[in-house]
Amino acid sequence: MPVIHSLGLPRIGAQRELKFALEDYWNGASGRESLLSVARHIRQQNWARQRAAGQPRVTVNDFSLYDQVLDHSLLLGVIPQRFRDDSSDIFDTGFRMARGRAPSGTPRRACEMTKWFDTNYHYLAPELEAEQAFVLDPSKLLAEITEARDAGHAVKPVLIGPVTWLWLARCAAGEFDRLQLLPALLDSYLQLLELLAGQGVDWVQIDEPVLVLELPRAWRAAIEDAYRALAASPVRLLLTTYFGGLGDNLDLALSLPVAGLHLDRVRGGEEYRRVLAELRDDQVLSLGVIDGRNIWRADLAALLEELQPLSQRLGERLWLSSSCSLLHVPVDLEAEDAFDPELRSWLAYGAQKLDELHLLGEALAGRDVADALADNARALASRRGSERVHREEVRQRCRRLSLVDGERGLPYGERAPLQRSRLNLPLYPTTTIGSFPQTADIRRTRAQFRRGELPEADYVERMQTEIADCIARQEACGLDMLVHGEAERNDMVEYFGEQLQGYATSRNGWVQSYGSRCVKPPVIYGDVARPDAMTVEWSRYAQSLTSRPVKGMLTGPVTMLQWSFVRDDLPREQTCLQIALALRDEVRELESAGIAAIQIDEPAIREGLPLRRSAWEPYLDWAVYAFRVAACGVGPATQIHTHMCYSQFNDIMHAIAAMDADVITIETSRSNMQLLEAFTDFEYPNEIGPGVYDIHSPNVPTVEQIVVLMRRAAERVPAERLWVNPDCGLKTRGWEEVGPSLENLAAAARQLRSEA
Ligand code: GLN
Ligand code: ZN
Repeated sequence: MPVIHSLGLPRIGAQRELKFALEDYWNGASGRESLLSVARHIRQQNWARQRAAGQPRVTVNDFSLYDQVLDHSLLLGVIPQRFRDDSSDIFDTGFRMARGRAPSGTPRRACEMTKWFDTNYHYLAPELEAEQAFVLDPSKLLAEITEARDAGHAVKPVLIGPVTWLWLARCAAGEFDRLQLLPALLDSYLQLLELLAGQGVDWVQIDEPVLVLELPRAWRAAIEDAYRALAASPVRLLLTTYFGGLGDNLDLALSLPVAGLHLDRVRGGEEYRRVLAELRDDQVLSLGVIDGRNIWRADLAALLEELQPLSQRLGERLWLSSSCSLLHVPVDLEAEDAFDPELRSWLAYGAQKLDELHLLGEALAGRDVADALADNARALASRRGSERVHREEVRQRCRRLSLVDGERGLPYGERAPLQRSRLNLPLYPTTTIGSFPQTADIRRTRAQFRRGELPEADYVERMQTEIADCIARQEACGLDMLVHGEAERNDMVEYFGEQLQGYATSRNGWVQSYGSRCVKPPVIYGDVARPDAMTVEWSRYAQSLTSRPVKGMLTGPVTMLQWSFVRDDLPREQTCLQIALALRDEVRELESAGIAAIQIDEPAIREGLPLRRSAWEPYLDWAVYAFRVAACGVGPATQIHTHMCYSQFNDIMHAIAAMDADVITIETSRSNMQLLEAFTDFEYPNEIGPGVYDIHSPNVPTVEQIVVLMRRAAERVPAERLWVNPDCGLKTRGWEEVGPSLENLAAAARQLRSEA
């Protein structure tokens, strides 16, 4: 009979209790005790859930008030110098490292935050000195162990492995080889494991997701050194990998003296069969069979068929879990009321995934779970056969797509003069990225309409007033290419998801993104189609108010895919193409409505890159093609824009160029135009708008600052191909900063023109 366990649970709370408790604590509305009591309640609930789901040990230390990587830095005593000023206690020091400020302590520059592997979760990068010392502070970990035991649970603590933690770390000052710190780091880990052994802990889950990456030789050696050293400890280590298969690291993993190995069965496929052949007699194999990255119910019958022989052979040496921590899925479907019964029956959030694991365990132990299995089979059959999932006309249209559908007809060099004469723009044209301040009034109006408290006609009228105001302000600032301002949009993906068939929007499907921030990805459950125009009326109205060109504004197919829960019964690229076709129709309809420039935002194209470099090109091929399918239905005189936020472009320049947008706007102001270098080195042939206004800051950029940045840009890109614009959308800013900033931006452009 297999052992069921969890790699980690969501910790934000089913109603985002932790989010609100954190924010109350930060802004002084409540004290530390009430935050700690909310946190304790969530942990207790999570542990109770695991116990109820047949797990002999509950996972501890997966909980975090902010971020588990930050917790490990604190555990190891790795606190950057600037926070060691004794102005706050350790509790607030963590928050200061994360956010730059806390209720107590002097504000400091926060630690760098970046994406956790290929998820939308962000961790705080550890900052290391060349002479870094490690000073163990296991207080949080030990307190949680005690707390769980006091509640009557046996525990399995989880740690981030030393190599993964080191891999994710940054050098604080000058670059040095982080691996030189490994021996000292291992001493600390060993000390920690001995401490846990002293507490009577038998198993420790030690996460090394770096094993799914293509690792440099030195880092593979580090894994070997690490686990040879840690083998001296008496606790049993479950070496845990996720987010992919091990590939060329499989032999390495098999050679390590660890008591168990966890593999991601969902993404790693059949790889575990090799492990099975080589597993030592005393080793445990943990299989992540339930998808921790998506929200679909599992096919339990198929899993049971696969697991039965394994279970017979391995008995208690077979462990079952989710593929990765459940941090990446919403908490509990019970707290969700947005879906109709049919769609709902296809879904499993975190709590339901624990139930699925429980059921698998019970079935493999020979208990009668026929009813539950029948229910699972019914749900799967309903999903497979549903008419909402399959739209033959969409499938056919995708099949008929060919290379020409991704071609503009004329090359950029011939499109540009046609667009120039149609748009009649000056040198250094000015524009914005799309959104304008989302005032409290705008949010209230949208909420009222959503709740049915505002008739549609009134809603439209109010939004039109907002658009008119936005257009008037842009004209007053002297901008050249205007936008309607996106007042009607809550979110750049959800807005379109709500209007497309095949998409559903949850009400409570929150997933932690970083700290107290959560995202609510829409669900793509079926073939995607566009029943009606989505943005055309707003754009048409905006254009009717001005003689300057108004840019249409859409979210691109890759971003629509990347920021959603995607169906698992169709290759991702097919779903992406379906979205691209829906957008293509929208783009053409905008063109027919007289919109001469259309922006298709693709901020997520880079984060869609697979973890392994060898898989990059196939991904980029279909991602670029999808963008082109969306963009290429229009004539050569219609100008296609795209926008991407702060990212490294160097190694994907060929793909950016292949998108062949007439204009790309990027975030560059904070990098002092350095990000532009990738475009220069590549000799990027089309137009570029390098951001000159840092929209993450409330500061108003001066004319002089903008001119300096643009002059720097003009040294790299011919002036004829440069645009002047902010880094990103302005929706989080207030008009009091946006107005003066855009006036300065337009004034800077005029100055540049006069100098040209
Ligand atoms: N058009 C969007 C906006 O202005 C783009 C947002 C983004 O790049 N993330 O808000
Ligand atoms: Zn952006």
